[in-house]
Amino acid sequence: MSVTQQQVLDSLTQVASPRGVPLTNANVLSAISVTDGKVFFSINVDAAEARAWESVRAQAEAAVRAIPGVSTAMIALTAERKPGSPRPESAPAPHRHAHGVQPASAHRPPQGGPSPMSKQAEIPGVAAIIAVASGKGGVGKSTTALNLALGLRDLGLRVGLLDADIYGPSVPRLTGINEKPQLNDERKMIPIKRFGLSIMSIGFLVEEDTAMIWRGPMVMSAITQMLRDVAWGTLDILVVDMPPGTGDAQLTLAQNVPLKGAVIISTPQDLSLIDARRGLAMFKKVNVPVLGIIENMSYFQCPECGTRSDIFGHGGARHEAERLGVSFLGEIPLHMSIRTTSDEGNPVVASDPDGPHAAIYRAIGTKVRDQLQDAIAAA
Ligand code: ADP
Repeated sequence: MSVTQQQVLDSLTQVASPRGVPLTNANVLSAISVTDGKVFFSINVDAAEARAWESVRAQAEAAVRAIPGVSTAMIALTAERKPGSPRPESAPAPHRHAHGVQPASAHRPPQGGPSPMSKQAEIPGVAAIIAVASGKGGVGKSTTALNLALGLRDLGLRVGLLDADIYGPSVPRLTGINEKPQLNDERKMIPIKRFGLSIMSIGFLVEEDTAMIWRGPMVMSAITQMLRDVAWGTLDILVVDMPPGTGDAQLTLAQNVPLKGAVIISTPQDLSLIDARRGLAMFKKVNVPVLGIIENMSYFQCPECGTRSDIFGHGGARHEAERLGVSFLGEIPLHMSIRTTSDEGNPVVASDPDGPHAAIYRAIGTKVRDQLQDAIAAA
């Protein structure tokens, strides 16, 4: 029998707020998502009261887990500072707890320099985690993340892909995966194997529009859980497809995921480069090395005759990378086959491994791998 939202609400009436009111009457609950026994929601409270609410969050999680048929309960405490309440610095110190979901204080963007949270525990068995990020959406970040992961696979590495683009998880579509991950004996989710990659996406668990309404702290909780409650096995590189942009959610993610490096995707247009610069600044702020910039949709390659046209005033990302002292990892043309293969769920590196585009992604993968050699060798 499938779990219903009403069952979740009923279980929450048994849990009291710090003021003794049933949780369901405390006006703090977000929308509740229930899919195949997986329950997600957040408790939204004032930052000044976050400490008092942490035990309520834990009780709520325990109550929901106790409902027959619930396999995963992910409940985040999200804290917003109301006008006039104390500065975040005076809030309780961050700590981790058993389920990998972090208390509200951990979600706050860093106030100048890395916080203690930046020393996140590594994921056992995973040698290097890298972020693929972009300053804005629509620049081909997810397409590049997937094809880069495949390029790294072609170099003989064991590679995973975590779709952390929680606002618009596109990896299910790009890979054609529409099955749900199973749980192993330790109740960890088993990533889906496709194209030789271990793949996990929030899109496997919830509908795309459910994810859309989540706010920053909820995003962090979901991603932390996908990182730590997934049986990744042994991986040389885990590629994380980040949510686009450089807002608080992205910054917190960059800070809280134990990243060995970040790759920034940009298109040649000026605006995108400005956004890319913001991305660079974001990773610098949290001491994550930027492995380099990739220029996507760099030039137009005619599918008929192969002629190259630099319709966007190509080369901007290379110059920008040189100016900023960051590696330039390569340029990927705007090409029909890259788009169509993505839309068909059969990415170009897998569907045309001997073609020119696969070679470009592999060359970029080689530059990325070379920078991670120490981490991979040490694992
Ligand atoms: P983002 O993750 O930045 O939002 P996507 O990877 O979803 O972007 O790509 C946006 C659209 O652009 C998709 O339709 C994708 O197929 C297409 N696309 C991405 N890179 C290329 C490319 N190099 N050539 C042609 N189409 C591309």
